[in-house]
Amino acid sequence: MGHTGVDPLIYLDYNATAPVRPEALAATTKALMAVGNASSVHAGGRDAALAVDQARERVAALLACSPSELIFTSGATEANNLAIQSAATPGQSLVISAVEHPAVTEAAVAVAEAAGGKVHTIGVHRDGTLRLEELEEALATSPALVSIMAANNETGVLSDLDLMVKIAHEAGALVHSDATQLVGRLPIDLRRLDLDLLSMSGHKFGAPQGVGALFARRGTVPAIRPLMHGGGHERGRRPGTLNVPGIVGLGAAAEAAARCLDQEAARVRLLRDRFETAVMAALPGTRRNGHPDLRLPGVSSLTFDGLPADAMLAAMPAIAASEGSACSAGAMEPSRVLLAMGLSRDEAECTIRFSLGYATTADDIDIAVRCVIGAERRVRAALYPNTTTTASGPTGGQEGPRRHDA
Ligand code: PMP
Repeated sequence: MGHTGVDPLIYLDYNATAPVRPEALAATTKALMAVGNASSVHAGGRDAALAVDQARERVAALLACSPSELIFTSGATEANNLAIQSAATPGQSLVISAVEHPAVTEAAVAVAEAAGGKVHTIGVHRDGTLRLEELEEALATSPALVSIMAANNETGVLSDLDLMVKIAHEAGALVHSDATQLVGRLPIDLRRLDLDLLSMSGHKFGAPQGVGALFARRGTVPAIRPLMHGGGHERGRRPGTLNVPGIVGLGAAAEAAARCLDQEAARVRLLRDRFETAVMAALPGTRRNGHPDLRLPGVSSLTFDGLPADAMLAAMPAIAASEGSACSAGAMEPSRVLLAMGLSRDEAECTIRFSLGYATTADDIDIAVRCVIGAERRVRAALYPNTTTTASGPTGGQEGPRRHDA
């Protein structure tokens, strides 16, 4: 039972965090039951170090990089900070997009301020894809680093990383991608994709929370500048006793995800499409956000005309989904990502992110569809009592009443 007293039946919040995969749970539990600091030379320490080596190989296999190019961190927030701090050079600018996670935006602002440089922010189109012409303009300032996320956490919209890398490298900039939402959901091949730095987090694809990694391509990133002072762990790049249970869980989740990445993505995409088709057919006022094809298979960002997301979510307690992004939920500001895409404040506040993943079933989706339709009817009836509602929204068609103060 959760602390809210409602045990969510249907979990559609994979972009916030995914359920731990059985393989990761088994590996983490085993590591928790052993004793040994991976830096110790006795048998327990050596076993821990071997388990970490194996996990590093598994994560490297998922990304198609060399194990020595990975630095284990507490997650993507730390990996993003480490990447940006390491790539910045005094006086040079940084380029990011308007839809980055705060772990990139805030890190870039802080690092640029300390380094006496500027942050250039690239806008996005209505469908969430990057405004390439703005990137070209920003590159004319000879930035040290371009940091563009691989997949957006709120809409799932994918970046054309091949193209970013090509044009940023031509301008002499290093390229980082926050691939937190992509890794473990879609294939990525760092032998082919020439990124210099990539951040990932385990808990988005079934590892325990609190573990992730930074990929730093050998030979291209001048030097990793640790965020903390301490011991020589991770070759002096990230001090602190290794989180062995988390790291082996990350390795196990990486291996499990890699084993069936394509099939899982195809299955999840079909379920997501089934969800969207059913909801949008029943509630024609509903709009889908983000490029219809260039997005993660498991994400559905829907705007319910005139119905605030908090009221909708409260009316479907059996569904675990998010209002905007989980990271900004709780803060009363509407989603920066949706505003950057040109949605109004009202539209952003009426948007729910449903995110599916490896354990989502067709039954989950069918129940979720019924819950969403039921919630829409109840919330609309409560907010617009003088309007006759039908399965397809208020009579009077698409021009239904605007939201009053709700
Ligand atoms: N970047 C993106 C795109 C994310 O979605 C998240 C998690 N919400 C993070 C970074 C932060 O990851 P972590 O929780 O591992 O610090």
